[in-house]
Amino acid sequence: MTADRFYIDGAWVSPAGGETMPIMDPAEDALIGTVALGSAADVDRAVKAATHAFESFGLWPKADRLALLRRIRELTAARKEDLAQAMCREMGAPITMAREMQAEAGIGHADGFIEALEGQEERWQLSNGDKMTREPIGPVGLITPWNWPINQIALKVLPALAAGCPAILKPSEFTPLSAQIYAEILHEAGVPPGAFALIHGTGPEVGDALARHPGLAMVSFTGSTRAGISVSKSAADTVKRVTLELGGKSPNLVFADCGAALADRVRYAVSECFLNTGQSCDAPTRLIVERACYDEVVEIATAAAQDTQVGDPKQEGDHLGPLYDQIQWERVQALIAAGIAEGARLVAGGPGKPDECPRGWYARPTVFADVTPEMTIAKQEIFGPVLSILPAADEAEMIALANATEYGLAAYLQTGDPARAERVARRLRAGAVHINGGGLGWGTPFGGYKASGNGREGGLLGLEDYQEVKSLHFGG
Ligand code: NAD
Repeated sequence: MTADRFYIDGAWVSPAGGETMPIMDPAEDALIGTVALGSAADVDRAVKAATHAFESFGLWPKADRLALLRRIRELTAARKEDLAQAMCREMGAPITMAREMQAEAGIGHADGFIEALEGQEERWQLSNGDKMTREPIGPVGLITPWNWPINQIALKVLPALAAGCPAILKPSEFTPLSAQIYAEILHEAGVPPGAFALIHGTGPEVGDALARHPGLAMVSFTGSTRAGISVSKSAADTVKRVTLELGGKSPNLVFADCGAALADRVRYAVSECFLNTGQSCDAPTRLIVERACYDEVVEIATAAAQDTQVGDPKQEGDHLGPLYDQIQWERVQALIAAGIAEGARLVAGGPGKPDECPRGWYARPTVFADVTPEMTIAKQEIFGPVLSILPAADEAEMIALANATEYGLAAYLQTGDPARAERVARRLRAGAVHINGGGLGWGTPFGGYKASGNGREGGLLGLEDYQEVKSLHFGG
C-alpha cells in the first residue's frame, strides 16, 4: 500500500524530493505502507500544467462537463468497495459505515453536482438589457482532512470540474490511499491532462505552497480552524478567493415536550455524537437539556453509551472503530482528563482503552453530565466519542448556551412542538439545523457561521464558489 507517486498532467510521476511518511492502520497500530511527501516544486509543476489545461478546459461546454461528471459518478460507484476498504484501513472507519456513508458520499455528491449544473443558468439577461455570464474562476488548490476523506474530496473536486476549473488536490497526509483511488477514477473518466492533479504532503509544505501560489485563483480548505486561519493569511498576498470549512462544537437542544419520543431522540443524539468515532466536524457534542427532563435524559444517554460497541473496523456492523492515530487518542484522553479535573460528572466510559480492544487507538464511548459552559469539554472540539450534557432552565437559556461558542457549523433540536422548532431554529447561529433527526440530503449546501468557516459546499451554492460572474454590455 504505497502512495509514492503523484498524479500531474495526466500521468503518475515521481515527486521532486525523496521524503516519505508511514501509513498506519489505527486498528492494529501497524505500518501498512508509505506515502511520499511533496514540496513547493511539485506544486509548481502541477500549477504549470493546470494553467495550460485551463486554456481549453475552462471553455468546455456544459454538455461536456456534465458528461464528465456522469462518467466520474459511474466509476465511483464501480470502485465504491475499493474506496471503502482503503478508508477502513487508513483511518479505521468501520467497513459497513465506510461503505454506506464514507464511500457513498462520492456518489451522492456527484448526483448533487450533476443536478446543480444541469439546472444552473450560465448566461442570462438583466431587465436593463445587459447580459451576465458565469465562468470558471481558474485553476484552484484543494486541501482536505482525514476524517471524511472521500466526502471532502468529492465536495471540492466535483464542483471545480463542473465549473471548468483545473484542480490540484492535497488530501490529508494521513489518508492518501482513498485519494489515490479517486485520482485513478478521474483519470479513467477522462479528465484532460492538467485539469486534475494529486500531490501528497504535509500542510505546512504542500498546503501552504498551494495557499501562496500566484498561479491559483482560489484555495478551498477543509480542516481545523487553526490551519484555516493560516491558509487565509498565506493566501492574502495573492488576493485569491479562500473558502473555509472548519471545526465545530455543535449543540443539540432537547426539550421536555418530546413526550413519548424522548428516549428515541436521546439515543439518536448519542449515536450521532459518536458517529465516525466522534470524528465529524458537525457532530452534536453538546447536549443541552431542559431541566424538566434532565435526569431522564442523562439516564437514557448513559445507557446508550454503555450499549455502544467498539471493535475491529474490518468487521461488518454498527460498532465504532478506533480514533485515527495515537496523537488523536492522546488529545481525546487529555480532554477526558480535563472533564474529570474540572468537575464534570462522568456517567459512561472514561479514560483509557475499552477492555476488549487493548491494541490500536480505541477510546471508550464517554458521557459527562453536569457540564457547565466554562469547562474545557463544553468549549473545545474533542474529535472523539465524548458527549457533554449541560442542563438549562428554559428555552431562552438553551438558545443562549447553544450560541455561546466560537463555532457555528450545525445545530440539532428535539421538540414535539413545530412552532418551537421554527422559533428556535431561527435563533440558532449555525449553517444547518437538524430537527428531530432530520438528515442532510445530497446537493444541500453545507458550511458554517463564525469560526466554522465561510462559503458553502454541495449543490448549486457549492458550484458557485468556483465561478466568477461577468457582465456583458452590448452597444448598437
Ligand atoms: P488539519 O487542519 O490538521 O488538516 C486539514 C488539512 O489541512 C490537511 O490536508 C493538512 O495537511 C492541511 N494543513 C494543515 N496545516 C496547514 C497549513 N498551515 N497550511 C495549509 N494546509 C494545512 O485538520 P484535520 O485534523 O485533518 O481534520 C480535522 C478538522 O477538520 C477538525 O477540526 C474538523 O472539525 C475539521 N473538518 C471540518 C469540516 C467542515 O466541513 N466544516 C469537515 C471535516 C473536518
